[in-house]
Amino acid sequence: QRSAGSILEVKDLTKEFGGLRAVNGCTLEVQAGSITGLIGPNGAGKSTLFNLITGFETPDRGRILFRGEDVTGLPPHRIFQRGLCRTFQIPREHRGMTVLENLMLVPPYQIGERLWNPWLRPRAVRRQEMGIRDRALAALEMVDLVAWQDRPAGELSGGQRKLLELARTLMADPAMILLDEPGAGVNPTLMRRLTAVIQRLREERGVTFLIIEHDLDLVTRLCDTVIVMSEGATLAEGPPDAIRRDPRVVEAYLGG
Ligand code: ADP
Ligand code: MG
Repeated sequence: QRSAGSILEVKDLTKEFGGLRAVNGCTLEVQAGSITGLIGPNGAGKSTLFNLITGFETPDRGRILFRGEDVTGLPPHRIFQRGLCRTFQIPREHRGMTVLENLMLVPPYQIGERLWNPWLRPRAVRRQEMGIRDRALAALEMVDLVAWQDRPAGELSGGQRKLLELARTLMADPAMILLDEPGAGVNPTLMRRLTAVIQRLREERGVTFLIIEHDLDLVTRLCDTVIVMSEGATLAEGPPDAIRRDPRVVEAYLGG
């Protein structure tokens, strides 16, 4: 059965690579509207779990439910279309295009309506009248990159590129966004901006986040709940402060 308030449920998920169980009977739930952290030592299976959830890998066993519907084995674009989105690095060939063009490249079939409606209603504009360009500008506004709209994406700093990657998911009207190590290689100023955007999307649009992050201080500041993975399965779950004190977690990071 589906427990109240969960948007994502992963049940007994397993994925092997040539005898190595990268994900090994993993079970977890993410609460709707939460910012949930996913931590664990290198090789714990966090990125593989993301690949399974977003359809880029097919599980050997187990199920993935998104908003109560089974999405196990669906192709990535179908999952993206349902509003379960992850960020991707801007491909090399798109770096010569402008920041705005990069957003307009998101295929139309992936563009949803849910997130945009609140922006449209006050202006009494009918949904159909909001073109891709308007959506792209609204997404840029959300991540504070409007001033950069006509610059080539390749001119953005590493941190600004992460904001653009996040903006690309906004084009798809996400209910839930998965971020794999958003803090990696981002300077503190831009990290604060990225953090603010994540919080704003949660507060104003109810977007749920699942975030893989190594920086435990960042996880503590940002996340309501933390799930700890070790050896392909869930080891512990709870509020950040309690998790950091949990002896099993300390052991998984420092022991072995
Ligand atoms: P994490 O993101 O927690 O560091 P990963 O999910 O990247 O962990 O990796 C978990 C384990 O699965 C590691 O031992 C890794 O080498 C292995 N692995 C991940 N992807 C593949 C793959 N495509 N082929 C073979 N082994 C893989
Ligand atoms: Mg990883």
